Amino acid sequence: MRVQSPLFIVLIIFSVMNIHAQWDKYPTYPEYVKHMQSWAQTYPELAKLHELGPSGMPNKNHHVYALQISDNVGKQEQEPSILLTATVHGDETLPYVLSLHLIDHLLKNYTSDIRIKKIVDNSDIWILPLCNPDGTYKAGDLTVRNAQRLTLKDNFDINRNFPCFCGNPEHQHFGNYSYACAEVKAIRSLTDSVSFVIAADIHTSEERIYYPWCITARRHPDVKWFKHTGQRYVDLAREHGPPNYFDDLGGPWPTPICTACLSGGLYALHGTFLDYLTYYRHCKTFNFYLSHKKNASSVDLVNYWNYNYQALLDFIEQAQYGLVGTVVNKETKTPLPAKIFIDRHDLDSSHVFANEKTGAFYRPIESGTYAVIVSCEGYHTKTLQNVTVEFGKTTSLAIELEYIPTQIISAKKLPTLLLHNNYSHMELYDLQGRKLNSFAKQAFTQRLYTRSGIYILRLIGKERTKNIRVHIHK
Ligand SMILES: [Zn+2]
Ligand SMILES: [Zn+2]
Repeated sequence: MRVQSPLFIVLIIFSVMNIHAQWDKYPTYPEYVKHMQSWAQTYPELAKLHELGPSGMPNKNHHVYALQISDNVGKQEQEPSILLTATVHGDETLPYVLSLHLIDHLLKNYTSDIRIKKIVDNSDIWILPLCNPDGTYKAGDLTVRNAQRLTLKDNFDINRNFPCFCGNPEHQHFGNYSYACAEVKAIRSLTDSVSFVIAADIHTSEERIYYPWCITARRHPDVKWFKHTGQRYVDLAREHGPPNYFDDLGGPWPTPICTACLSGGLYALHGTFLDYLTYYRHCKTFNFYLSHKKNASSVDLVNYWNYNYQALLDFIEQAQYGLVGTVVNKETKTPLPAKIFIDRHDLDSSHVFANEKTGAFYRPIESGTYAVIVSCEGYHTKTLQNVTVEFGKTTSLAIELEYIPTQIISAKKLPTLLLHNNYSHMELYDLQGRKLNSFAKQAFTQRLYTRSGIYILRLIGKERTKNIRVHIHK
């Protein structure tokens, strides 16, 4: 271990305090870690530090950290989870300090600012200020000068190293690469376990908001919601920013809010964080590009905070709106990890699931009237017709699903099930809902199934249809 001079330590302590007050300079790596630790220590009810994993370079002793912010932090509550990530590209350092400033702002103003208190009380916010620490501190732990975009160990672009649904089997696990770099492993240890409702992965080099997809020009079913939400961000940033902020209309993208992939897949990007979170994790994800400058100077840090913090707070609040509800077992009231599918709307994995521990679900969606199909294995599916949502408002739903009890039936007795009731035919499904067979009453002498096991039997009559769960044995 290296022995630090007392003067060096005093300097670090002094500059930590200074940064705490102003956020007008880049912290050193040890200062950054100190901030993250001290927030968790100073606000134990509100902030929890998570070490998600080491970075790629073993000798650097860098880690990917997340700070979780909520009231009763760490306790599972019925609140939407929101993810903000920064510095996935190590040289895009402005969002690094903006995220730290945001954490500080949320925690410091919790007791004094009603809006902040409401945000923290009603959400579960996760902020990862530094996703590529080796790249950012390439030149050493004391400076972000000479920061690089790629990871240092593997030279990977983190934003191309996530599972990709483009159809190329070589991409399906690690995007453009053949393995996950340490930084991606660390990030995914969080994103594979927490179900985020909305997310923003924050970058620089442009002033623009991107929404899915990166890999295909296919229209995302929630494109109206993405545009509306993106527009709110841009409007607020413009209101607080300088003239021409977010006025980036040059190049092939005609608006400051657009899909990352132009028609024809001209700029298709494989393995992006945005596509992975949106497609595989059902999280509505944006890229916020907040500045033309990559490595903003110290004076910019405060300026860009002033331009953006209102928009960032407003973005976090968006997770509260849309369809919000719970799904429980009708009898026992226990939470169910049900699938929430908007009929004739959801496509390309845009549906959401209720949380298995709380039964809560959050489904941001544009204004409209929808049919909501709620399904869970072993339960009767329920369709809620004419559910009306207004953008920026909450439509609350409390859903109870009826359990399908399992009847033990001998194969030989199956026909009597039809005979004794007024059903005309039956259909047999496996527990994943795949239809195996269907039979009319008169054709009932044929073999109905191949193996003993548990199935869903759908009895269909003129007046009614009944699903029962059956354990059929030969
Ligand atoms: Zn970037
Ligand atoms: Zn791909």
